[in-house]
Amino acid sequence: MIQIKTSEEIELMRESALIVSKTLGMLAKEVKPGVTTLQLDKLAETFIRDHQAEPGFLGLYDFPNTLCVSPNEQVVHGIPNNKILKEGDIISIDCGALKNGFYGDHAYTFEVGEVMPEVKKLLEITKASLYVGIREFKAGNRVGDVGFAIQNYCEKQGYGVVRELVGHGLGRKMHEDPEMPNYGRRGQGKKFVEGMTVAIEPMINMGTHRIRQLKDGWTILTADAKPSAHFEHDVAIVDGKPELLSTFSYIYDALGIVSDEEKEFRTHALVL
Ligand code: MG
Ligand code: MG
Repeated sequence: MIQIKTSEEIELMRESALIVSKTLGMLAKEVKPGVTTLQLDKLAETFIRDHQAEPGFLGLYDFPNTLCVSPNEQVVHGIPNNKILKEGDIISIDCGALKNGFYGDHAYTFEVGEVMPEVKKLLEITKASLYVGIREFKAGNRVGDVGFAIQNYCEKQGYGVVRELVGHGLGRKMHEDPEMPNYGRRGQGKKFVEGMTVAIEPMINMGTHRIRQLKDGWTILTADAKPSAHFEHDVAIVDGKPELLSTFSYIYDALGIVSDEEKEFRTHALVL
């Protein structure tokens, strides 16, 4: 059943989402050659607790860490370890936070030093597809409209859209109804209404959409070992339109990137 949120609940969700946004912003400066993903994980856990929140992933379904860190051919759900990041890697970092009973959950794929142009393009297209999907998340549209838009946009580039893992409703639980696939057919699936809150999160592969899982029971990799990217925002429907609860602006501030990609959507400044 879809859990509709009141405006007060949406404000609490924004607070949780922005803690994740700030955590990713803090990590943006730490992602560089020579760092281990376990070091990033510890930094994130401390940062989240310093903001009077709990790591959202730690212990959830028995996941062992604060971050999911998925370099290169890893799609999602990578477990932090002592492997060192190197120049030219990409790393998808997915982070959750729980505060006031509500979850934030969002993700960004970072470049480690200079990456190959074709990999840069994969990141650009995947991030753009996130906004293509968010534009369709409005009252009266349906789940399939978001999925279709993302799939169509990415497949035109020859990329593979992961099928087995999907976005989701978000709130007092990390995973609520409805499931939000990154593929689908226009006009199909559950209808969007005022007060819905979801995580939209394209997982896009440079090659085949097929995936495999490591024996650790978590890590998802591309079947052809080509790179994969993952970007995720938390979004609410307010006044019938998509409103971003999370923001990449802390990442952009940290990296000196100028972007107006979030300008077209409603946001609401909240000072933490
Ligand atoms: Mg996530
Ligand atoms: Mg998610």
